[in-house]
Amino acid sequence: MTSPSPDTIENVIIVGSGPAGYTAALYTSRANLKPLVVEGFLWGGLLQQTTDVENYPGFPEGIEGPELMQRFRDQAERFGTRFITDQATKVELCDEPAGVHKVWVGDDEYRAHTVILAMGAEHKKLEVRGEEELSGRGVSYCATCDAAFFKEKPTMIVGGGDSAMEEAIFLSKFASKVIVVHRRSEFRASKIMLERARSIENIEWLTPYAVEEFHAGEKGGLEVARLRNTEQDETREIAIAGAFIAIGHEPQSHLVKGQVDLDDEGYLITEGRSTRTRKPGVFGAGDLVDHTYRQAVTAAGSGTQAALDAEWYLRDTPGIPKPAGLPQGDLAEAQWAPIRES
Ligand code: NAP
Repeated sequence: MTSPSPDTIENVIIVGSGPAGYTAALYTSRANLKPLVVEGFLWGGLLQQTTDVENYPGFPEGIEGPELMQRFRDQAERFGTRFITDQATKVELCDEPAGVHKVWVGDDEYRAHTVILAMGAEHKKLEVRGEEELSGRGVSYCATCDAAFFKEKPTMIVGGGDSAMEEAIFLSKFASKVIVVHRRSEFRASKIMLERARSIENIEWLTPYAVEEFHAGEKGGLEVARLRNTEQDETREIAIAGAFIAIGHEPQSHLVKGQVDLDDEGYLITEGRSTRTRKPGVFGAGDLVDHTYRQAVTAAGSGTQAALDAEWYLRDTPGIPKPAGLPQGDLAEAQWAPIRES
């Protein structure tokens, strides 16, 4: 993309590029709104770091996460979506109806009547001693990305959800052993994922333990994890070369903090069943909003809702030049009004 003209006001800028962002792009591009997606360097969101996706409808044999995201992107591009493969660095949201919102990518300022926020969520940190220092030197948040560095080496996974099971199963193909360390004896993971992990010989289980600290060896890489029993007064040290943290996610809402409503955990708050935020013309979708379902298919669904909310806003707000191609007239009104007002 070339630098923007200061006179250009986009219909819609979408910040973020997981299933929510790309689906919002697909719908708004099919509505002739020519969306601009600020997709980040590592576009595609967390699915880029996943292997088999078996629960996205329409793919009975399953599909690799990166291939699924490539398909989402291609489909949005086919209808005229434009992409900036870089990070949004600043967002300024306007309070006035029909106002102009601003999104910066470095020094370039982009302006739009509507913004769809779909920045998603990132891996949560344990926040224990040694974690940050050893990140990239034994501590990792992505087995799919880093497992190959741990061939025939002892490793551990921290966490008890589906992500932890998925990571353990993948890692077990490379590491000599994978110890799943979880702070409770019950697991949050689904039965099918837990059973799959339990059937693998080189996966071991250590509960109820929490990591207290990671230690480096003489060469500077991870060598030891100190664990604390969460039910008894006992600590132990285990020798490992790799530790993969899979304890959930946190929303990437820092760009809009103080401008829209966020809950205590930083998730974006939207109005009722809509994707509207408290700023007119600003909508939220995907994992940035949803801490309950957090599935690719639900994120895609909310991307659709945000696209439709943005369309209706552009169509119905006095003072905004009406983009061609939007649903118009009584039929559209009868169809959309009850949903829009809910
Ligand atoms: P999650 O379900 O929230 O599980 C997080 C796990 O990490 C829990 O076991 C939690 O322990 C533990 N944990 C959280 N904070 C911790 C801390 N500070 N120290 C130690 N442990 C901590 O997150 P997720 O596994 O990432 O899954 C998120 C969603 O994605 C779920 O809906 C899941 O089903 C879905 N998902 C599906 C698949 C699949 O089907 N293939 C794969 C991955 C994810 P407690 O249980 O004690 O709270």
